[in-house]
Amino acid sequence: VWAYLTDRFRADLTQVGYDTWIASAKPVRLTQDTLEIQVPAQFHKDYWEHNLVTKVVEGVYEMTGIEVTPIITDGAAFKEEQQKPQPKEVVPTFKEKSHLNSKYTFETFVTGKGNQMAHAAALVVSEEPGVLYNPLFLYGGVGLGKTHLMQAIGHQLLIANPDANVKYVTSEAFANDFINSLQTKTQEQFRQEYRNVDLLLVDDIQFFGDKEATQEEFFHTFNALYENKKQIVLTSDRLPNEIPKLQDRLVSRFKWGLSVDVTPPDLETRIAILRNKANAEQLVIPDDTLSYIAGQIDSNVRELEGALVRVQAFATMQRQDITTSLAADALKGLKLNGKSHELSINHIQDVVAKYYAVTVTDLKGKKRVKQIVMPRQIAMYLAREMTDSSLPKIGQAFGGKDHTTVIHAYEKITDAMTSDDELKADVLELKNRLKQTS
Ligand code: ADP
Ligand code: MG
Repeated sequence: VWAYLTDRFRADLTQVGYDTWIASAKPVRLTQDTLEIQVPAQFHKDYWEHNLVTKVVEGVYEMTGIEVTPIITDGAAFKEEQQKPQPKEVVPTFKEKSHLNSKYTFETFVTGKGNQMAHAAALVVSEEPGVLYNPLFLYGGVGLGKTHLMQAIGHQLLIANPDANVKYVTSEAFANDFINSLQTKTQEQFRQEYRNVDLLLVDDIQFFGDKEATQEEFFHTFNALYENKKQIVLTSDRLPNEIPKLQDRLVSRFKWGLSVDVTPPDLETRIAILRNKANAEQLVIPDDTLSYIAGQIDSNVRELEGALVRVQAFATMQRQDITTSLAADALKGLKLNGKSHELSINHIQDVVAKYYAVTVTDLKGKKRVKQIVMPRQIAMYLAREMTDSSLPKIGQAFGGKDHTTVIHAYEKITDAMTSDDELKADVLELKNRLKQTS
């Protein structure tokens, strides 16, 4: 659970932010309804409580469908403990210079229909960089392993040649670095950094689309590397000529080497990926359960992994072994395959507002009069009952209210329905209307 949460934070924070707030924190205890997190000092605690707690609630909820209250503690006890030799790091360490994620290697990559070609090309490039396919252009939908493969090339090259200069960046990071160098007049340094590499990996190049100056700079970076026979690997969610506003000269250069697509894995491959992952995490999962999970998620490896994490967390919290029926329970609330038949919170608000002759603005507002408070709480109740939205998301949809407000509303209505038949009938009627109109 912690690894999953920290991965989320890694995506949201800068490297410095991550090091300051997340790397220094550690999970202490996970119970049915609380997650205790220890941080080094009071100011960490403040930061966590103001900025990160909602994300923890949201993350755990998304993973497990279970709501936890995070408890943030700080203290001298923790400091003393920190001075003792540290147990093994839980967080995967980034190789500092290359920015490679240590998990994304060829060893951990499962091949199958859909990624065979891309995998083969990546291997060739890692063995003989700059020779055959330059640039290597990997494209395809999200969560299919493009980033993983690209970084595997970097790891492989570093194994063969530990002194190799490997640089991994997202296209956004490249753009930011470039703009920073303009602002701080350190362009020379920027060029040094990007043109003296043996292998440049630029991820998600589709985001170059509307960045004129960055494209210009990248054009020169590309040429410098290419002329020196340095390997360039690019990924994108689509082919070069399909990227809007990408300069023609870049499009044509991107096609000089080899473009390979990555497509969704078939069932067998999905099972193999899950089995691999389960082994790596030392999870005991029966084969039929693996097949079941792989059968549920057919679009995207990231979702597949998410499903496994969810099942695992569910089992931990329920203190049960992983079985197919437990997996089915854990995955019940999940929006499978992105094909969500889910009601939107907006729609719920519309229907409830109309039913009680109030406005949606009132539902989202702060008025405390009974005629509005009750419909607002009912709408929150329905949002929680009938959608997969997390509590913080529901709060957000109601004018930015706290997740505790949503819990309170939910409990209030659940409670009131046990004694108030009229309310119960109203809620039932609303549910019917929502089911018919969704
Ligand atoms: P993309 O960059 O295409 O959006 P990623 O490379 O980030 O996708 O992959 C999403 C997740 O799925 C990562 O955790 C990655 O390790 C995993 N993954 C994707 N494909 C495979 C595979 N063939 N074998 C093992 N893990 C995979
Ligand atoms: Mg990616």
